[in-house]
Amino acid sequence: MTAASTLVDTDPSPSLDDLFSDIKPALSHRQAVIESARCYYCYDAPCVKACPSDIDIPSFIASIHHEDVNGAAETIYEQNIMGGSCARVCPTEILCEQACVRNKEEECAPVLIGLLQRHATDNAVFPDHPIGRASSTGKKVAVVGAGPAGLSCAHRLAVLGNEVDVFEAQSKAGGLNEYGIAKYKLTNQFAQKEVDFILGVGGITIHYNKALGKEIHLTDLTERYDSVFLGIGLQDTRELGLANESSIGVLNAVDFIKELRQANDIDQLDVPRTSAVVIGAGNTAIDIACQLKRLGTEEVTLVYRRGEADMSATDHEQHIAKEHQVRIKTWARPVEIRADANNHVSAVRFAKTRIDNGKLMDTGEFFEVACEAVYKAVGQSLAYPADETQLPDLGGGKISTMDNFKTTISKVFAGGDCTGVGQDLTVEAVQQGKLAAMAIHNYLTGSEGN
Ligand SMILES: Cc1cc2nc3c(=O)[nH]c(=O)nc-3n(C[C@H](O)[C@H](O)[C@H](O)COP(=O)(O)OP(=O)(O)OC[C@H]3O[C@@H](n4cnc5c(N)ncnc54)[C@H](O)[C@@H]3O)c2cc1C
Ligand code: SF4
Repeated sequence: MTAASTLVDTDPSPSLDDLFSDIKPALSHRQAVIESARCYYCYDAPCVKACPSDIDIPSFIASIHHEDVNGAAETIYEQNIMGGSCARVCPTEILCEQACVRNKEEECAPVLIGLLQRHATDNAVFPDHPIGRASSTGKKVAVVGAGPAGLSCAHRLAVLGNEVDVFEAQSKAGGLNEYGIAKYKLTNQFAQKEVDFILGVGGITIHYNKALGKEIHLTDLTERYDSVFLGIGLQDTRELGLANESSIGVLNAVDFIKELRQANDIDQLDVPRTSAVVIGAGNTAIDIACQLKRLGTEEVTLVYRRGEADMSATDHEQHIAKEHQVRIKTWARPVEIRADANNHVSAVRFAKTRIDNGKLMDTGEFFEVACEAVYKAVGQSLAYPADETQLPDLGGGKISTMDNFKTTISKVFAGGDCTGVGQDLTVEAVQQGKLAAMAIHNYLTGSEGN
């Protein structure tokens, strides 16, 4: 008997790759050349001042215009070795593209700097790593954490002639690029391809499944290495402090996103079918809400205690949420999680809020949203590594550093989200890793302060 044939594809489960296709598809070669011609190559360019990683934007755009993508990519990598992922995840609408002189009504739109950066880094082909290494300093540095801060630090240290051992708690490198950023921003295993590219410089060895405070300890590292860099990010999600918060179905948004980023098949995920509540107002809240909609949750309600203007998610991210039909409810704070007889979350009760004399107050009115699951996206904090009694001073739940990324412990530097420097953005972590590497190198070679 021959197999039945159908005119339509009857497979009910779309693949995860189908559901999470690239949110900002790449420019074609022709589009990139035309877009590059829109740049005025400004002297003292405001876009460069707005780029946290100091990329010479007009220069790389000029290279694209002259059809020299390798030259364009080299200009980007000189300052930012993770220019490929930053091109995909940077909120350009509040950074370089916001500052672009063409970002005016009469000019229609800013130059599409992010997409041009992606065009250069995606299409450049180098026989060897584009940035060579200096001769050996004979120094060895330990980097803890293989996220954007740690990888960028390791890369710059290697370029400057140092040997680097990276210790990573997980079985893969990339940090939140691998485990946190929304699946539709970094598609097609991009995070791992970028890690391989970075390691291509040589002189860097990553030791996986080695967590500070468990398999490795700061005192050992400071004895065995000439210097140590901590780039351990923020691993804990803040609690809401509500009754029934430990009910089944109440989850940390980042934990679910991590599962989603590692899943090969939609059936591996426990996705709420009818309704979910997301609590928070940052990019993590928007990301989880949009990803749930793509996974098929019918109703996703994102609730924030203040107004839309106060949300830390950018206008662009809020717009993406609306495009995904996420219901955004502002001026409400959760006061109780309701659970059923099986201890499974069934609803969240909210108090309506308002501002009174500059203070956030309850109005005295309440409402409830029924849901199958609640995702907490109310900010991340440092996970204090077990047994690590010597970890540098924690100021406000973060590692405190001085101007040159030094901590209070001799030889130990830190950067990225785990410190209180800058906004928690990928590009900021990459920049801090790079600057910390330069500070460590100066410290090791005695050229500090020169
Ligand atoms: C859900 C989510 C979405 C985001 N989306 C965006 C976005 O779209 N655009 C953007 O610019 N930014 C975004 N961010 C922020 C961005 O991801 C971070 O600012 C950036 O990843 C910080 O880099 P990092 O290297 O400091 O930390 P991380 O990326 O967190 O990396 C830290 C690394 O250290 C490892 N580690 C932790 N503890 C230990 C230990 N004890 N021992 C050894 N290793 C350890 C971790 O496993 C990890 O690999 C998002 C963040 C989240 C949570
Ligand atoms: S501000 Fe805009 S136009 Fe000027 S150099 Fe930067 S990208 Fe080009």
